[in-house]
Amino acid sequence: MLDYLHQSAWQSQLQPWQSPIDIEQAVSKKETPKHSAVSFLTSYQFTTVEHHGNNLQFNGQGQAQLNDRVFDFQQLHFHFPAEHLLNGKRYPLEWHFVHQNELGQQAVVAFWVKEGPIDQAMAPFYQQFSFSEGQKRLLPAKLMLPEIQKQHSAAVFNYLGSLTTPPLTRGVEWWVFQQPLSAAKFQLQQLRQQFLQDNARQVQSLSSRPIILYTEPNLR
Ligand SMILES: [Zn+2]
Repeated sequence: MLDYLHQSAWQSQLQPWQSPIDIEQAVSKKETPKHSAVSFLTSYQFTTVEHHGNNLQFNGQGQAQLNDRVFDFQQLHFHFPAEHLLNGKRYPLEWHFVHQNELGQQAVVAFWVKEGPIDQAMAPFYQQFSFSEGQKRLLPAKLMLPEIQKQHSAAVFNYLGSLTTPPLTRGVEWWVFQQPLSAAKFQLQQLRQQFLQDNARQVQSLSSRPIILYTEPNLR
């Protein structure tokens, strides 16, 4: 299991331009694209879930278009509390949808989650999983991401960073939706119980990287 209490031991030669960061809206450059910067081309179909001690990894298939390039979905996992900050504020949870394109470039589409009303579409991921570290289970579930995107303001932050777990590989595109998803308190507690410890990497220095905030085309 990855030990978040001793993160200094992870340090690599891959500085700077690491993730996560504090996303400050005031320093973000606003862009209004002709069409959405992030589009989910398919629903995401999940097949299995793996327990990694302080994370659950949901494997599946799906496709997203990120700035006109197609990326294949690989896996979804969670961070308690959120890894990216928004204007210095930390949400209780962050979802990471990991993608890769045919050139091998990696992109993570991230959603913050706030405590609020139940979102039934997300319910399969908040259930009581009765398995433990190192085990893998079948988990047939479908997430209608195109529908979910329609219900949310699709403004999304984009910057270039890294994986937030070793090997901390650089060159990872981050797409972080500005508007958080919602989950009930009991759902957050239920999911958190699966994790043996918090699993948020410390915030890394921005180091003069640009952050772009892509607004929805129709919000012009
Ligand atoms: Zn992650």
